Amino acid sequence: MLREVIDKYYLDNQKDREQHHFYVTDAGKCGRAVFFKFKNAPRKEMQANILRLFDHGDHVHQLIMKPLLSMREVHVVASEVNIPPQEIISGRSDAIISDGRDLYVLDIKSMNSMIFDRLKEPKPENIDQLQLYLYYFRVPRGILLYVNKNTLELKEFVIDRDENRALSLVRSLEEVKKDIDANLIPDRLQDYPSNWQCRYCQFRSLCGKAGPGKVSWESFKEKIAGQKV
Ligand code: SF4
Repeated sequence: MLREVIDKYYLDNQKDREQHHFYVTDAGKCGRAVFFKFKNAPRKEMQANILRLFDHGDHVHQLIMKPLLSMREVHVVASEVNIPPQEIISGRSDAIISDGRDLYVLDIKSMNSMIFDRLKEPKPENIDQLQLYLYYFRVPRGILLYVNKNTLELKEFVIDRDENRALSLVRSLEEVKKDIDANLIPDRLQDYPSNWQCRYCQFRSLCGKAGPGKVSWESFKEKIAGQKV
């Protein structure tokens, strides 16, 4: 009885599925998957336990921020900081901190033991997100802090700002925006379907039906109308 009620709570409270602007988390992601999110295309439903895991991740962030907010060695300049308004992208970093000399953007990521134990260097997609924060906040350095959700162990990586990497990410999002406005489904990833993003993609079935290359969204919608995707 309780399981159904709790699952329903999470499924009913999913955030708005239709996306209207880019988030920092879209940086470096498959343009086709981002396109489908903007168009609110049919997708594989998220399971309630995955939604609970996201919620759990928020609690882990609070747990990490608690000591930072009360320590002398590190000063939290601001927490949950929105990137300055501009046309292409929105996002909120966990915090901007200072060690008394320099400012750092802090991005906290939680993960299970299996992934945490294998982590020898920061994940490229996490560096991409951090680079966008560093670019928009004009802060020279950031910290990716990884938390093992099972054991609460920590790993941290200090990353220098790389303006070129940030600009190239912004340019790729601008390209996807052109396709969104022109109703053209972007091409799939070069290493589809073996790319890790394809393994977890909610649009995998839809993507298979669209096939390779750029595809007209309007014609594709007509083709799949009434089909189960
Ligand atoms: S299945 Fe792979 S290529 Fe297709 S939309 Fe998803 S991530 Fe992109």
